Amino acid sequence: MRLSHAARTFSLFSVLALSAWPQSKLTSPKEHFGFNIGDDYQLTTYKQTEAYFKKLASESDRLKLVDMGKTEEGRTQYMMIVSAAENIRNLARYQEIAQKLARAEGLNEEQARSLAAQGKAVIWIDGGLHATETVGTHQLIETIWQFASKTDPETSRILKDVIILCVHANPDGHDLVSEWYMREPVPEKRVMDSPPRLYEKYAGHDNNRDFYLSALKETTNINRQLFLEWFPQIMYNHHQSGPPGTVIFAPPFRDPFNYVFDPLIVTQLDAVGAAMHSRFIAEGKPGSTMRRGASYSTWYNGGLRTTTYFHNMIGLLTEIIGSPSPMEIPFVPNRALPVGDQPFPIAPQKWHYRQSIDYSLTANRAVLDYASRYRETILYNIWLMGKNSIDRGSKDSWTSYPSRVEQVKQIIAKENPRPSGSGDSSRMPEYAPRTAAAKYYELLHKPEWRDPRGFIIPSDQPDFPTAVKFLNSLIKTGIVVQKAAASFAVNGKNYPAGSYVVKTNQAFRPHVLDLFDPQDHPNDFQYEGGPPVAPYDSAGWTLAYQMGVQFDRVLDDFSGPFERVPFGEVQKAPAGKVVSGPSGGYLISHMVNDSFVAINRLMKAKQDVYWMKDGVKGFPYMGPGTIFVAHSPQAKSILDKTAAEFGFNVQAVAKIPPGDAVKLAPTRIALWDRFGGSMPSGWTRYIFDQFEFPYEVVYPKTLDEGNLRAKYDVIIFVGGAVPRPKSMGVEERPLFGNLEARADKVPAQFQPWLGSITEDKTIPQIKAFVESGGTVLTIGSSTNLAYHLGLPVKSALTEMTRDGRERGLPRDKYYVPGSLLQVSVDPQNPLAWGLQDKMDIYFDNSPVFRLEPDATAKGVKPIAWFSSKTPLRSGWAWGQQYLEGGVAIAEATVGEGKVYLMGPEITFRAQPHGTFKLLFNGLYLSTATKAQSTKP
Ligand SMILES: [Zn+2]
Repeated sequence: MRLSHAARTFSLFSVLALSAWPQSKLTSPKEHFGFNIGDDYQLTTYKQTEAYFKKLASESDRLKLVDMGKTEEGRTQYMMIVSAAENIRNLARYQEIAQKLARAEGLNEEQARSLAAQGKAVIWIDGGLHATETVGTHQLIETIWQFASKTDPETSRILKDVIILCVHANPDGHDLVSEWYMREPVPEKRVMDSPPRLYEKYAGHDNNRDFYLSALKETTNINRQLFLEWFPQIMYNHHQSGPPGTVIFAPPFRDPFNYVFDPLIVTQLDAVGAAMHSRFIAEGKPGSTMRRGASYSTWYNGGLRTTTYFHNMIGLLTEIIGSPSPMEIPFVPNRALPVGDQPFPIAPQKWHYRQSIDYSLTANRAVLDYASRYRETILYNIWLMGKNSIDRGSKDSWTSYPSRVEQVKQIIAKENPRPSGSGDSSRMPEYAPRTAAAKYYELLHKPEWRDPRGFIIPSDQPDFPTAVKFLNSLIKTGIVVQKAAASFAVNGKNYPAGSYVVKTNQAFRPHVLDLFDPQDHPNDFQYEGGPPVAPYDSAGWTLAYQMGVQFDRVLDDFSGPFERVPFGEVQKAPAGKVVSGPSGGYLISHMVNDSFVAINRLMKAKQDVYWMKDGVKGFPYMGPGTIFVAHSPQAKSILDKTAAEFGFNVQAVAKIPPGDAVKLAPTRIALWDRFGGSMPSGWTRYIFDQFEFPYEVVYPKTLDEGNLRAKYDVIIFVGGAVPRPKSMGVEERPLFGNLEARADKVPAQFQPWLGSITEDKTIPQIKAFVESGGTVLTIGSSTNLAYHLGLPVKSALTEMTRDGRERGLPRDKYYVPGSLLQVSVDPQNPLAWGLQDKMDIYFDNSPVFRLEPDATAKGVKPIAWFSSKTPLRSGWAWGQQYLEGGVAIAEATVGEGKVYLMGPEITFRAQPHGTFKLLFNGLYLSTATKAQSTKP
């Protein structure tokens, strides 16, 4: 009896100790939601999920719920930390270890090994970033549930070794999409189709392109956890959908990979990817693919997954099929044969949601199992990569770029001509002559090709507040930034106090190089002489260029009175002030983007504001279009407040300066959008909200109704709004074909959002609007309007065929995917006031025009054009010489009104602050009137 009693006591004790007291009371998803995660036709909402997270966290000692901050729509964004109870009690210690290893500062090898031995693997798993990809959110809930409740040996081992960060990436979209899907009361009738608006307030799907800029609240929340708080060694970003005929894409990725990050990233991606694919196969789950099985690469920065590469983290992406309404896997014969990139093909079959959840859990477990088994290795490696970066930034070092390798190949070919008769003499040699290998290798290591040791951002540049915004993007992604406490000199150039310095001897050096230096995308073709392989996203994005930041690139080490900005502490431009003087009025530079906040506030308060055509004598740095604000107590108080808040100076003057001017007036802005939400339109809304422009969103049906001049002064058509004329041979098709057919399923409140711009109904109304004095601002493909209106322009990107026909340049001759190019600008043109005479633009196979000979006579003027055969600044521009002489931006007078044609994406993802003024100027020019010139 005693024995038995003892045994019973012992077993009770062990149950308590190992798992159970709180675990036994865990609420299952079925108990909470009323269905299992993955049941057909059932989606959770965020409201329900948030309640579940709170409930589960209160029930389990394996969980800790973390408030990450608010979303754009005001919800609370959560991260659930999952680990063994004893780890949860010591989170601060493990966080400190992860942070120290990732930053790699002042740690030697021995210390790093010791910390790696003591630490826990920190693994990020997110879900729901793209809210219509509902598997992501639902696998996250199931993952938390399983790791909170299961007691099998593998789960216990993982929980002991790993701290899992389960991050909900888009709460707002979760509610929107689920409520939209579940609005149909009969489950079997539920259909996954487009919700009426973007699933992230401003960005929609582009919420996964914001991670280096960090404009959106959700991005900022996520970046803080990744790069300032937790520094996971592996992060796993869930997406949907897999390529047809497969179930899931998982790493590794196809080339190209980005030259600035550590090669350990690529090999570790291979290792973790292999663990994922192997586990699918071992569990009898066919249909996973990798590398060339899909189009994903590691080239781009800016995605939730990809920004982590530039921070020495192993960033995983999967793309899985799945839908709460059961679906079919099609038969794709080319997918039926096993190949290295798809070892275990799947047969066509009916597919249920739960299967996608199970696959996702397999993938998560593969990653977590890897992290448990290689815990010390991945902790050590993130330190090693950080240390490598610090070392590379502390001495002369070189990055290999394709254009440089190409130059050296040319030299080798020139100096070592192949003897005739030895095959194709035009071919490049594959290697240099053996005796001269060192000589040619050294050509890649010219002093001027060294990587920079640092960058200096002078505080006396024309638009310093915008430069500070750029610095904040770096700071929000964990970069070390320093500020000069006093003036200093480097290479004979003086810099004022308050200038910023970003050095490259830091762990996240790849991210620093990537945002200051150009991307050099390789010439990537399907085969020699064949068509180009499209990059997965942008080819070039150098944020400092896009934002028009002036900086110096320093190749030697330098020092100065620099003070380190505390990690994560966002900066403000020093408060501007109204420089006192006579109080007839005030001057503000047109070069400062934030001066438009002041203008918008002044307009709202009905104050008098002028733009001085030729600038103002004595204030050359304010440029053509210098802003003059007439004095009033209210104007003064607005300027005091705005200048202090945004950091620009205001100069008091006695009276309005002499010279021609335009007087501003409030402007009624209409911004095109469509059902489902246009991302470029959403980003433009974001810009308007930041700069405090009032605006109205208009849908095609409103435009079709006409009478537009009575309602608006300016209408904006971002890319994707205006189709090509039918006469140009491209068929006009509704953007949401599927949805148009299901229009009767769209609730009454959204019916006015349906429809698209048509040649028959909308274009005549736009034409009438312009002819009666309205302004239309077109961006990207919406410059198609030029052809509808018969403006004297045509595409510059054409060639004559042998039989004398004109056709668009074929892709093997000309191809410029998302890249930064330089154009010349006419800074005297009012649309370009505040700009320099050269400007970097974001260009994505964008329209480029040639003006007809009679264009000037017909009122068409170029504002920006390509003045060089080599306009490429960052990215990839195959056949860039064709751009020379082409017009990028033009204005046209049509009747009483104006049409602006802006080929480049001047508002692209709210990144190119350097080109925002074109938009802002265009808006106010729509209502500006000529002011009487005052003679001095
Ligand atoms: Zn996605």
